[in-house]
Amino acid sequence: MKTISSPVRSEFHCLRVLTLTPDTDKSGARWLGTMLSAINVADVKSINSLSLIPSLLREGKVDVIVADVEHGGLMVPTLLKTLDAANPLARFPHVLWVGQPTLLNLLHGQAAAMLEKPAVARIGGLSVTALLAHARLAHRAGINVGMVYGGGNAAFAEALRALLLVPSIKRQAGCFAPPDGPTEADVIEALTTGKNLRVMLQPQYDLRTRRIIGAEALLRWNHPGVGEVPPSVLIPMVNRLGLHLLLFSFIETRVIDVLLVLKSRQVTLPIALNASAETVCTPGLAQRLAEKMQRAGVPPQLLKIELTGDLPVDDELLLSASLNTLRAKGFPVSLDDFGQGSSTLNLLARMTFDEVKIDGAFVRDMKTSASAQAVITATVNLARLMNLKVVAEGIEDASCIEALCQLGCPTGQGYALARPLELRDFFASVSNK
Ligand code: C2E
Ligand code: MG
Ligand code: MG
Repeated sequence: MKTISSPVRSEFHCLRVLTLTPDTDKSGARWLGTMLSAINVADVKSINSLSLIPSLLREGKVDVIVADVEHGGLMVPTLLKTLDAANPLARFPHVLWVGQPTLLNLLHGQAAAMLEKPAVARIGGLSVTALLAHARLAHRAGINVGMVYGGGNAAFAEALRALLLVPSIKRQAGCFAPPDGPTEADVIEALTTGKNLRVMLQPQYDLRTRRIIGAEALLRWNHPGVGEVPPSVLIPMVNRLGLHLLLFSFIETRVIDVLLVLKSRQVTLPIALNASAETVCTPGLAQRLAEKMQRAGVPPQLLKIELTGDLPVDDELLLSASLNTLRAKGFPVSLDDFGQGSSTLNLLARMTFDEVKIDGAFVRDMKTSASAQAVITATVNLARLMNLKVVAEGIEDASCIEALCQLGCPTGQGYALARPLELRDFFASVSNK
């Protein structure tokens, strides 16, 4: 391991950089050394193997890892994620991939991450499209990745600057219970008493007419000490504690109350409830729900069950029977987060649904990723072939609404249309129509 230092101060002077280049690529290592020195990075450690990264991360602070994409660089985000899972890192360093472009053209020297359609076909033997897709996945895991190939100091500095502008994310928020978050005892108390739990409703729209055509019920928990606890923290704890039925029954009661208020105002809108495979497979669930709806005088068609992917499907035969029983009783069933996780296509192929919801990640990426657009188009076509309704989730950008209509997706929900609303605001917005 070598240490290079530079006495001149600059915007990058305080940056702690780790470079990873193979021993076989002396000219690449030299190029990198020259670049870093030219932009006055003072603290550079150079290594030749991925295996040296763990100890360096643990013993010192590293802000950026600059790595040859072909010689280990591609694996750096995976390594960071694995290290973090074993022993949480305070934060992830940024990763800057470097490599040789195989096509030299006008774009030579620009940071590929900044380009919507990079004209350089390959970097270090890997297609730019594949690298951008991999960088997006890394970003989703909380690791910022940028790219630079060829070019001079200015291009290198620009790529580094662009990377540093994105705040270092620790990890996707809410994948775990933070140490000062709610305890299991808090969860048990909240679910058994219903205290501080409430339901919000996110309207779903006809994207062409912008009329509200339904809503999804979303759980909220305002913990007295912690504040708002997101479902991504609460639901896994509920599942771990085996309290999913208690949660479902809480939401179900609130949703039936909502349907009764809507009925009293002569508004007919279906409300969707989220339920895991385990909840859906509860013996007698469909019968119990049907009786409750009948007592309330609300048709089952107005209560939609969204099958979430947060728990694995242990018994496909039982799940299929349970979904069919719900449908037979008149409850529409929807497949949530289609495309996320590995088994949603399998579920769609083997079971019968009334609706499929395109996962928000594809919708959010549709402007910048041709493959996200392709997945949306394919899902819309699949839904048409299978006679299913299709709903796009996570529409954050108003300009995607028209694009979704053109791709054949007529309904959707997302912040660009409406955020999840408190019940009184939801009632106000549907009563005004
Ligand atoms: P989901 O069912 O896919 O719900 C959609 C999530 O996307 C909600 O997050 C919603 O607030 C959020 N969202 C809506 N529009 C946008 C947007 O434009 N951009 C972005 N980035 N997000 C948007 P929320 O409420 O945090 O819920 C997360 C997940 O937790 C839900 O995903 C669902 O799987 C689960 N969940 C929520 N409520 C319940 C519940 O009552 N029961 C069960 N079993 N699961 C629930
Ligand atoms: Mg849902
Ligand atoms: Mg969803």
